Amino acid sequence: MRRVLVLGSTGSIGASALDLITTLRDRFQVVGLAACSSAEKLAEQAKAHGVTTIALEDDAAGKRARGLLRGVDVLSGPGSAIELLRRVPADVVLQATVGAAALATTFAALDHCRLLALANKECLVMAGPLLLEHAKARGVTVIPVDSEHSAIFQCLRAGRADEVERIVLTTSGGALRDRPLAELGRVTPEEALRHPTWKMGPRITIDSATMMNKALEIVEAVALFGVDPSKIRVVLHRESIVHSMVEFQDGSVIAQMSRPDMRLPILFALAYPDRPRYDGVRFSVRDFAKLTFEDPDPARYPAIEVGFRAARTGGIAGAVMNAADEAAVQSFMDGRIAFPEITRRVAAALDRETSAHRGALSSLDEVIEADARARQEVAAC
Ligand code: MG
Repeated sequence: MRRVLVLGSTGSIGASALDLITTLRDRFQVVGLAACSSAEKLAEQAKAHGVTTIALEDDAAGKRARGLLRGVDVLSGPGSAIELLRRVPADVVLQATVGAAALATTFAALDHCRLLALANKECLVMAGPLLLEHAKARGVTVIPVDSEHSAIFQCLRAGRADEVERIVLTTSGGALRDRPLAELGRVTPEEALRHPTWKMGPRITIDSATMMNKALEIVEAVALFGVDPSKIRVVLHRESIVHSMVEFQDGSVIAQMSRPDMRLPILFALAYPDRPRYDGVRFSVRDFAKLTFEDPDPARYPAIEVGFRAARTGGIAGAVMNAADEAAVQSFMDGRIAFPEITRRVAAALDRETSAHRGALSSLDEVIEADARARQEVAAC
């Protein structure tokens, strides 16, 4: 029986994880839940899973949850998720909180578990090398929950690291993959939010349409797997069945396939290194007799090159790219900038910051400062 603590349990990944655990109660026991401000949903989850300690970052939400629950310890206020980690012993922590704000909690989680199932990609993009060093020093295994990186992790088990020739990251192409290029300047947030294959949160769905999501994932892959950016290739794969591939030096390509369902990478991480029986979604080759792979058009997706540039630059480049993108997506959602402007702003922020601050990451403070600077600059222009 594994004791699981879920950070960000009311978001899309957190809710999928709890849904999955409902069908695997002989393996997993939920011992702690944390969210930002969704008191009602968190209270419901605590009841459904018999959880006796929960945390809400927002104080007012904490008060609401106390009114809804009996016999449950409700921690609240800034830092309450870290307090939850301290109080409740867990084997696995699932970090499913969205955004850069999860950085401190993720580092804290490494002091309180043996296995970190990491769905928050920002932590790896911003401070991957620091985070993984920190995990290694504490003997914590980090398993990515991002579907592409879970796939790569699984494919890499087929050979040694020095036998890897190439990592092929797949992408669906996002909501606007077939929209004429000339129309992209007029796209509304609602249109950019219509993802063809995956159901996800709003920022990542916009990031899929611009392909900034893949840019972040390039940096994430470099951090996680220690590969040179020149060994990574991005391929447009409309069906979202092949979640990524690894090519070895003998010419063999290992791919991981399933129907697009985040419960599979979540399960892989929570149960690692086991593969428990799970009857949720089944993949049949007959249903997908035709799988397509194309090179993405650089004119449609300039973000891919931005991602490679950030990966080659290293240091604070990942933090700058992520923060600039979060701010630019917000500006687009608020109707202040046009869709193609998102990537342009990120590229400009990267130019400004990385010409001034070069070199490897030295501390988390440096990351947090770069994040704040880039966010301010993009929001101001
Ligand atoms: Mg992904």
